[in-house]
Amino acid sequence: MTSVTTIVVAGSTVLIVRKPIRHLYLRLAPDGERIIVSAPWSWPDDRIAQAITQRSAWIEQQRRRRAIQHVRVAGELDGLPIPIWGQMHRIRILAARSQPTVVSTPGELVLHVGAEATLQRAHAVLAAWQRATVRAAAHPVLTHWCQVMGLSVSRLTIRPMTTLWGSCQTRDRRLCLNARLVHDPAVCLEYVIVHELTHLIEQSHGPRFDALVGHWLPDWRERHALLGHNGG
Ligand SMILES: [Zn+2]
Repeated sequence: MTSVTTIVVAGSTVLIVRKPIRHLYLRLAPDGERIIVSAPWSWPDDRIAQAITQRSAWIEQQRRRRAIQHVRVAGELDGLPIPIWGQMHRIRILAARSQPTVVSTPGELVLHVGAEATLQRAHAVLAAWQRATVRAAAHPVLTHWCQVMGLSVSRLTIRPMTTLWGSCQTRDRRLCLNARLVHDPAVCLEYVIVHELTHLIEQSHGPRFDALVGHWLPDWRERHALLGHNGG
């Protein structure tokens, strides 16, 4: 037996399905907006609302992840939500200026690609913007941490990667960052840069590696937990 009710928590509609269970389970509805909660019978609404508030960071992370996956496979980009440095924006496709340009405003990411542009073209413009934006943001952060850590890199590459947040070729001191970092909070980019630079000192992941990262970024675990998808 179940019962379904609805409440609103911090502007989000929450569907509560009460069942004979012992713990609370949270997930996002397919629309990426509503939250679906399975809760024990005994839990009143305010206890459920409190549990949702406590997990708001996780919910936002799920929303970002959902939006990024959606954008990647979208048949149409116009109107899709897209997170930029952790903040939700909406994609708007407008007529091209002389060159395709991308303008980020509070709440919107405007792609000037022209109505006649193919979807493939729009995705290519978006991908170029991701790379350029991560590069521009990474540059001062990398310069800062190279100074602090007493290191140098020979080359920085930005490209989309599916399983890694970044990589570091220690032999020739080349650093690579995932272009999709543009979707996560900026503290994540800094964490990935420090992580990859640390590989120039300690190649393998282990207690010494964690201690080194923790020395420079004491909150690295929180930053790591904020990353939207699987990295390495
Ligand atoms: Zn690593």
